[in-house]
Amino acid sequence: METIDQKQALHLIKEGKKITFLTGAGISTPSGIPDYRSLSGVYQGIEQPEYLLSATCLIEEPQKFYDFIQTLYHPNARPNMIHSKIATLEKTKETWVISQNIDGLHKTAGSHNLVDFHGSLYDCYCRNCGQKVSVEEYLTSDRHLVCGGQLRPGIVLYEEGLDQQAIVTAIEAVEQSDLIVIVGTSFQVHPFCDLIHYTSEEAVVLVINQTTIQLNRHAYFLNEEAESIFENI
Ligand SMILES: [Zn+2]
Repeated sequence: METIDQKQALHLIKEGKKITFLTGAGISTPSGIPDYRSLSGVYQGIEQPEYLLSATCLIEEPQKFYDFIQTLYHPNARPNMIHSKIATLEKTKETWVISQNIDGLHKTAGSHNLVDFHGSLYDCYCRNCGQKVSVEEYLTSDRHLVCGGQLRPGIVLYEEGLDQQAIVTAIEAVEQSDLIVIVGTSFQVHPFCDLIHYTSEEAVVLVINQTTIQLNRHAYFLNEEAESIFENI
């Protein structure tokens, strides 16, 4: 990756006509939402988060699933500068955001051209009757008052497939963009990181992260906290 400074990165964003942001946990930590990787620390020796976030656990050990999933909710977290600036860019440029985050903060910030690639904790529904329920209802009980069925969040659990429409929309956005900005992610989770294979040859890729990431194509690299550059967009 070719390291550049903030001024050069700002220039790339200014020149971009169709921009797709690929975002990860790093952009929500300034909003007080812990990175997933820290979960394995918290739950180390008890149970793997991968099991607690699996379809098997949801169905076979619903109480265990519910106890764990509640720890992932931060209903008072607010979007930060990064979410807000991405949402604002939509007003002046064709902008898309494809996020691995399940915290719903891009939506709260006002992004419309948005794909929550792994779903959102804040879209809850009943497994039995399919009815949508509010997050407040889900956080009160995981039993649906109407039918007695089990409530669940609309996130993609381990063992579950991704939403096909999310994949199609994400690929289309990446294919058509002349600038891809990867921000706040170590970019290691498949198939999210495979989206990079759909960039056009002429497209410019900008990575804003505190550590380098592996890409098999040319990319510009801004090695700093995302908040500081987004402040200046
Ligand atoms: Zn129901």
